[in-house]
Amino acid sequence: MTTTWLVVTDPLDLCALGRLVPGLPVDSIVIGDRALADSSARTGVRSVHWIEPVEGVPADAYAAAAADIVLGAAPGLVATTATAPASRAVVGVVAARCRASVLSGVTGVSEAGDALEVTGGAAGNAVVATWEVSGPLCAFIAPADEAPAPGVAVGLTPHPDAAPRPSRVTVSAAAVASGLADAARVVGVGRGLRSRADLAMVEALAGSLDAELACSMPLAEDLGWLPKDRFVGRSGQQVSPRLYLAVGLSGAPQHLQGVRGAKVIVAVNSDPEAAIFRAADYGIVGDLYEVVPALTAVLASD
Ligand SMILES: Cc1cc2nc3c(=O)[nH]c(=O)nc-3n(C[C@H](O)[C@H](O)[C@H](O)COP(=O)(O)OP(=O)(O)OC[C@H]3O[C@@H](n4cnc5c(N)ncnc54)[C@H](O)[C@@H]3O)c2cc1C
Repeated sequence: MTTTWLVVTDPLDLCALGRLVPGLPVDSIVIGDRALADSSARTGVRSVHWIEPVEGVPADAYAAAAADIVLGAAPGLVATTATAPASRAVVGVVAARCRASVLSGVTGVSEAGDALEVTGGAAGNAVVATWEVSGPLCAFIAPADEAPAPGVAVGLTPHPDAAPRPSRVTVSAAAVASGLADAARVVGVGRGLRSRADLAMVEALAGSLDAELACSMPLAEDLGWLPKDRFVGRSGQQVSPRLYLAVGLSGAPQHLQGVRGAKVIVAVNSDPEAAIFRAADYGIVGDLYEVVPALTAVLASD
């Protein structure tokens, strides 16, 4: 059985790897605080190597030190979900140093003799491809949706001597610039919106609520309709407003991770089965192109 290392940014990563290759012995490396290391230790892994960043030093600065630890075990597979820059950096350093194959969008791995058989999306996920990889593999995998069931904790192996590359964060510019972090009201818009021009309609609603405008990741990352510091979620901004109004958003777990601090969530979605309604306190099942102008008109008449 190949030795597997997982670079952890979230306990959900461990859950994702368990789903990918059930039964594979996993050693993990965590660059983060004690709480993250402890929760990783309860997810059925064989070991947790723990680097605790010095205050003010970003986790990415420990990429080379973490890669040294991973490479010491000569792993056959190194995986991460790539939601944090630190995990991408560690995997990059590992891949470069041991000349590993790198594959993204990996959905399954199994052993085929001395090689690994890997499945995943290719050509923009239009096809499912199978690769045979000999030699070490660095894989980027999809995150899991649900937290792993807590298991017996393994002991942590701290690495207090792990040295960071010189680097220090002095200002968190994106959060300050977007104003989302402290906003009392936020209107979040998703792919239910049909065109960039229609953003004006949602902006009008946000304006009448005195709310900040936010969005789902695809609107900022894929479509570029709003700046990247406007998307909310696991990989984006964390918000904790008194009101989060979700418009045309499906309620993906990665998005909801960014609104856990919201006091009240109101959702507008045309699909009564949309997951956002399970997270919402109030829901309006309807076409946003009717509901949004109607809400704006009501608020304007107050
Ligand atoms: C590693 C990773 C990290 C990620 N991190 C994030 C993250 O931080 N933040 C994030 O947002 N996403 C993130 N995602 C993406 C996430 O999984 C979802 O794909 C994304 O959040 C979906 O965006 P959406 O809700 O805008 O679009 P969709 O899922 O396409 O939902 C659109 C919704 O609009 C509704 N709708 C359509 N037309 C109308 C209409 N006329 N009126 C009303 N409703 C309508 C539909 O019913 C649907 O529910 C991440 C994904 C990965 C793999």
